Amino acid sequence: NPVIGVLALQGDVREHLAALRDLGADPVSVRRPAELAACDGLVIPGGESTTMVKLARIFDLLEPLREAVRDGLPAFGTCAGMIMLADRIEDGAAGQESIGGLHITVRRNAFGRQVDSFEEDLHVEGLAEPVRAVFIRAPWVESVEGDVEVLARVEDGPAAGRIVAVRQGPLMATSFHPEVGSDHRIHGMFVDLVRSAI
Ligand code: GLN
Repeated sequence: NPVIGVLALQGDVREHLAALRDLGADPVSVRRPAELAACDGLVIPGGESTTMVKLARIFDLLEPLREAVRDGLPAFGTCAGMIMLADRIEDGAAGQESIGGLHITVRRNAFGRQVDSFEEDLHVEGLAEPVRAVFIRAPWVESVEGDVEVLARVEDGPAAGRIVAVRQGPLMATSFHPEVGSDHRIHGMFVDLVRSAI
């Protein structure tokens, strides 16, 4: 079974561990460089990206994370995790850093305060049936570069057309929270990606 880490500095770690376990992966919490080094893939959960990046620095994980992604470690970021993987952040805190690697520009809290949280059925590239996507103070992808593949866009309302799921080689990211609830098909896509990379 692939060993899939969940970055466990902050955010909704437990839900990701449970989703990965359901899919037959061996999930582990990652807080130290040695734990990261033992992973075949890494999930970066939702939470608060400014706090997560600060903690990554304090735990001496930021550089190891950057190196791991640069060296091709499969990684999947959800919400704040998408922000962590983005090369560029708009509306970030001043000088907000990221792990980077994914050639996208994200806009934090993009859907506005009046629509703090919402759910929508989304068609996701590679999945036959739509996914019930849960957005919580979510970012969207403002623009993509190079070989980034768009997996899903918002379909209804004023944000229709906005990109909310992407893949670039071994990297995946969603604006929404596929770990919420019992439909783990998106985690399944990531586990397949990790398996094919081992
Ligand atoms: N708004 C958060 C951030 O900017 C992300 C929210 C989430 O992960 N649910 O980091």
